[in-house]
Amino acid sequence: MISHNLYIYNSLTSSKEKFKPFRKNSVGMYVCGPTVYSDIHLGNCRTFISFDIIYRYLKHLGYSVRYVRNITDVGHLEDTGEDKISKKAKVEQLEPMEIAQKYTNSFKDVLKKFNVLNPSIEPVASGHITEQISIIEDLIEKNLAYISNGSVYFDISKYNEIDSYGKLSGRDLDKIKSKSRNLSSQDDKINEFDFALWKRADENHLMKWTSPWSEGFPGWHLECTAMSNKYLGDEIDIHGGGIDLKFPHHDCEIAQAVGYNGKQPAKFWVHTNMLTLNGKKMSKSLDNNILPDELFSGKNDIFSKSFDPNIIRFFFLQAHYRNELDISEEAIKASEKGFNRLIKIIDRLTNVKASKINNDGIFNNIKEWEKKCFSCLDDDFNTPMLIAEIFNSSKLINQFEEKGEIGDRERVYFINLLDTLLNKILGLNYSKSTSDNNSILEILLNIRDEARSKKDFQLSDSIRDQLNKKGFKVNDKD
Ligand code: AMP
Ligand code: ZN
Repeated sequence: MISHNLYIYNSLTSSKEKFKPFRKNSVGMYVCGPTVYSDIHLGNCRTFISFDIIYRYLKHLGYSVRYVRNITDVGHLEDTGEDKISKKAKVEQLEPMEIAQKYTNSFKDVLKKFNVLNPSIEPVASGHITEQISIIEDLIEKNLAYISNGSVYFDISKYNEIDSYGKLSGRDLDKIKSKSRNLSSQDDKINEFDFALWKRADENHLMKWTSPWSEGFPGWHLECTAMSNKYLGDEIDIHGGGIDLKFPHHDCEIAQAVGYNGKQPAKFWVHTNMLTLNGKKMSKSLDNNILPDELFSGKNDIFSKSFDPNIIRFFFLQAHYRNELDISEEAIKASEKGFNRLIKIIDRLTNVKASKINNDGIFNNIKEWEKKCFSCLDDDFNTPMLIAEIFNSSKLINQFEEKGEIGDRERVYFINLLDTLLNKILGLNYSKSTSDNNSILEILLNIRDEARSKKDFQLSDSIRDQLNKKGFKVNDKD
């Protein structure tokens, strides 16, 4: 299969480039995972679903993909300098590791509901302290890092002698300077924009480890360098994350890795754009985040009904991963309608009459259409274009129905193709959600009719009200 024409947008060069991995048939992909101090919101989910598409498509092309997605359970600090996980542990009166485990579990549960595949390796930052310490030792030895008051900082001015810091985000250092002035422990640094590789912990700090410099903890950026190096080597094919991680996180990762290995860590830098609510980035700190379970259960202040995870996944995929996407009830309802239309197309295809005689003309038309579909995916994983193309397939089905000349061979080929596109690559549970839902709906309506005939209006009204709440309008015949 592997011969293909896949182009991926590379944030490092700001252009689409032909994808060619370092090793012939295998791909190494590293995606920055969540900081597990709270439940993930729909914005986070959008990013992980986008990388799920990339992972699925690379696998479909025949690559053996090692997909590493880390769990940040230490070192990600608030602007005040407090560790996010330690802070939450104090609030919830739990051990920091209980907090990390609790939110790692809920992260995995949510992604499962969205039908996101598990990565190949999911390493945790706190399990890789030794690796992080040895990178710091190496950077100190190379004069790219310095010890100050028990902490260790990366020296940007020294680094700029070998490469230019901030090249991924294109930030200018003056702006970085004014922002970093707010950070605590500023006094320990030589340059205002140097960043911490190791932080000395104060007495009250909950998560700390012994190191050559102090009892302390690693800086957030370092974990990704350590874990990507350990599991994917010093040259990764794809390194990804949300666009908000470009700076400082990914620029710092590049600096650390170039300092440590003497080469650029990743061939392709892939960044997903943000999910917004009323035009504002969905974010924990802005307090405008919607939790997936609130949407699935219909229990939230913004939406009047619940939505299936499959519909939300479809809604996300109707936008390109590099474009911003605003979430609203109206927009999800439009996706829901669209998804149901898609199911009807598949139902029509499944029911179309086919003969034993092959039809080469139709077979060629299907293959032409197949090419168009894959060219959408090859164009930087363009899922909205692919979905539009799948809607277009109804024209082909019209042809089958009107002319009645489709052969079994063509029908089976077409059904399998749709299954590959929708199920395997886009990860949509189309057959499950529709046919299962329809039969469950039918059973519920029968029970309700029975209740009504026995004049058990409490039960029949309750079924009607609950179905209405889920968006199914129930009309009484009499
Ligand atoms: P965090 O746990 O904050 O590091 O976030 C995990 C991932 O979600 C990162 O790749 C972020 O870039 C991404 N992310 C955060 N907010 C949003 C958003 N509103 N839309 C899309 N992705 C987001
Ligand atoms: Zn990272």
